[in-house]
Amino acid sequence: MGTLRYLTLGFLLVSGQSQAWSDHASLVWPLLSTDAELKAPVLTPKPLGDFVEQQSQAIAEVLEAHEQWTAARGMDYALTPQPLRFDPQSSNLTRGFIQAIRINPTLSYAPYRQLMASELGAADNQETVGWNDLSFLDAGESHSSIPYVLLAASDLVSPAHVLATASDEPDRGMDVGLFADNGTPFGAIYGFGQQPFGNPNLSYGSQAPFHMGFYHLDWLTKKAQPGLLNTYPIWRIALYDRLAELAFTTGNDYWGWRFMGWALHYIGDLTQPYHAVPLPGVSTVSALWLVIKGETNDAIQLVSNRHGVLESYQYQRLSTALSGDEASGVWLTTLSNAESAPAELSPTDVQSYLTLESVEAATALDTALAMYVPSRYVSDSSFEWVGSGLEGDVANLIRSDGGDEAIHQLDAIVTQQLKRFVRFAQAWVNRTKKHNQE
Ligand SMILES: [Zn+2]
Repeated sequence: MGTLRYLTLGFLLVSGQSQAWSDHASLVWPLLSTDAELKAPVLTPKPLGDFVEQQSQAIAEVLEAHEQWTAARGMDYALTPQPLRFDPQSSNLTRGFIQAIRINPTLSYAPYRQLMASELGAADNQETVGWNDLSFLDAGESHSSIPYVLLAASDLVSPAHVLATASDEPDRGMDVGLFADNGTPFGAIYGFGQQPFGNPNLSYGSQAPFHMGFYHLDWLTKKAQPGLLNTYPIWRIALYDRLAELAFTTGNDYWGWRFMGWALHYIGDLTQPYHAVPLPGVSTVSALWLVIKGETNDAIQLVSNRHGVLESYQYQRLSTALSGDEASGVWLTTLSNAESAPAELSPTDVQSYLTLESVEAATALDTALAMYVPSRYVSDSSFEWVGSGLEGDVANLIRSDGGDEAIHQLDAIVTQQLKRFVRFAQAWVNRTKKHNQE
């Protein structure tokens, strides 16, 4: 028991990182922009309040159904506290809705869209806003230069733009500050309890249990680390899927696509092995041994650094590819090609086979990062990658140490992960189209 208790404490800081892919919108854009059906600007962007007020009674029913589903799942999901349940008679329906689905109430949720890299030339005569107008979090390297456009009800926008933009939105802070110990007034009443893992000191650290899903832990880890069962991405996916269905069937198509985009964010996160396995490459027995030797924090730091290097690398290589560099064209081919995508993906499929694939890929990915990235960045627990200032130079650092071979090997393993991302993104698009036709 003593050991188990130590193990519980030792893993508390697991994966303080909780971003997965950088800039989800650009990642899914090559797939969406090659789908003619999604490219036509046919959607009228309405404020959230319009949908909520028009459908308040139906929303109450949908949220009640989600609550029943949550209760029946028998997982460690915190049910919605009674005072937060959606009341269609409430005087402020929009605020009531935001509280009932328990997202961060300080963000605006007004209609907007990202200007994609290929559109930047045309942005000159448009009024744009930046990340800081849309989020209280730091932009970070990947988002600091992205322009966004606020949408009015008189604008028309394409499903591709809405889906892509919304798929990046949960990283703007929607799931930040929701736990009781996060020091926010809403976290104090949302009923999610204490943050089970993730580093509460990082600005976005408290979103970790919403963006990571450890659905395939062995019995010992489950017993020793019950907090790791407290993960919410599938709960979020199922919630947004239900709301989208309602929006589509009631003529609120803009919100149908946007809710499905929110859900797509978590699907993307879970295709990344570091979001599906707490310590890739470390067996349960080794983890136990690390605890006994007091080296758990070292292992967590290494995993955190590899996770960080992977994100920086993916972002750098994709940016190079998007800028028209021919040698990295393989990235665009990978991202626009959903080979053998499942015909559909349901929220429960995400648990039963998407995350299983991510788990199976974790060790090989972790090993490749350890092998082809300079050891200082991925095998030295005294080093902190995030915030090192080296993020933007990651590809050059890897090339000067390991040559083109290292880049070649890393491209191969990272594009394998992205193939999984694209296949499941396509399956989710298929589901969205089906909802749209119902
Ligand atoms: Zn995320």
